[in-house]
Amino acid sequence: MKVLVIGSGGREHALAWKLAQSPKVHKVFVAPGNAGTAAEPQIQNVAITDLAKLVEFAKGEKVALTVVGPEAALAAGAVDLFRARGLRIFGPTRAAAQLESSKSFAKNFMQRHGIPTAAYRTFDDAALAHAHVDASPAPIVVKADGLAAGKGVVVAMTRDEAHAAIDAMLGSAEATSAAPAAPARRAGDDVPRARVVIEEFLAGEEASFIVVSDGTRVLPLATSQDHKRLLDGDRGPNTGGMGAYSPAPVVTPNVHARVMQDIVLPTIDGMAADGTPFTGFLYVGLMIDAEGHPRVVEFNARLGDPEAQVILMRLKTDLVDVLSSATAPTGSAPALDEIALQWDRRSALGVVMASSGYPERPRTGDAISGLPADAADCKVFHASTAERDGTVVTSGGRVLCVTALGDSVKLAQHRAYETVRSIHFDGAQARRDIGHLAIKR
Ligand code: ATP
Repeated sequence: MKVLVIGSGGREHALAWKLAQSPKVHKVFVAPGNAGTAAEPQIQNVAITDLAKLVEFAKGEKVALTVVGPEAALAAGAVDLFRARGLRIFGPTRAAAQLESSKSFAKNFMQRHGIPTAAYRTFDDAALAHAHVDASPAPIVVKADGLAAGKGVVVAMTRDEAHAAIDAMLGSAEATSAAPAAPARRAGDDVPRARVVIEEFLAGEEASFIVVSDGTRVLPLATSQDHKRLLDGDRGPNTGGMGAYSPAPVVTPNVHARVMQDIVLPTIDGMAADGTPFTGFLYVGLMIDAEGHPRVVEFNARLGDPEAQVILMRLKTDLVDVLSSATAPTGSAPALDEIALQWDRRSALGVVMASSGYPERPRTGDAISGLPADAADCKVFHASTAERDGTVVTSGGRVLCVTALGDSVKLAQHRAYETVRSIHFDGAQARRDIGHLAIKR
């Protein structure tokens, strides 16, 4: 069969690489893909990003299954479009993807369904938001929502930082046309407005808990942990993720059972009850406190990146079987919850190599040298790479994710960094401590 992966990052390289290993698959298309997917046997890049054109492509090529990688395509309704044309696709509908695309939708949903998360309030009025901060203890978290989305999340250690974040997201009284952070505000309730979600600070250790769902049944994948900050010691600005490892020892069997019972199952049941069943990868970003109580930091409607790379590096089961079960009409394939996933017992650890200037202003066009051949215990997944005159060059922020297996997190870390040191591009940035929390345990 032919399969199609939508996206161009490290997550999509890992998905395509894993799908291509299935004996049932003879061709994987990646749209648009990167220089890494272009170099894989059985994988072919397709230079199409327009969703309507991709539907036509999938029809023409008789693609049996499509998998959506990035959130933007889900929020744009990729799944709705493909399904409307009778094409099989794995991912949530646009309505279900709101669990990720709208923080206020997700918070509201969790509150209605009793799912543990940080207490929060939503504001579109800056004065009320400032007053709320004045009446709350610090640290406190300010998140952009609605028209302000994309301006990020500020974990404010002081009230002053929280006030500044509100000004940046909603516009301050002093804002002038020279301050581009202030979005246009218009009168009228029917006009969408910039909004912020202000929430309680959660203390603890983060972990990523990703499951596959067909809308009612759930199959949990191996656990993992991301490293969101740019610099060693979890300092510096937030990024898309600078490295990950799997499994995450902070998710003990006890925590795992709680996450399934208190968070994952009520989420899948709640989405179905609300008439927006969630099919696809559901990513739960967790904060686990010192007593082992998990709470939801965020939902994503897709596999994480770089979590996908370390999880798929360890998955032994045929991914096509899993995704077929999740998308097949009832009775035509084994049910999702009847699948016993097989995992490599070793740990996987991935180190992201990012370009100069990432995350603010990533430089592109730097030539990459020293890329190794694939080894059984180490794989370099490409993200923002392109081919130019026979040379692989950087084409965006996160460039590569060097992913290795080892008998412990420490050994996987050692193997990954051995390869990182052999790869060169000007201005490359990589953390040197990926896996530090697991190694300290
Ligand atoms: P992502 O790129 O992961 O999708 P996002 O913009 O959706 O990020 P969140 O995941 O909500 O933002 O928050 C980013 C990070 O900020 C979290 O991974 C966590 O480290 C921190 N954070 C968010 N909310 C809280 C909270 N309530 N308490 C403590 N830390 C938080």
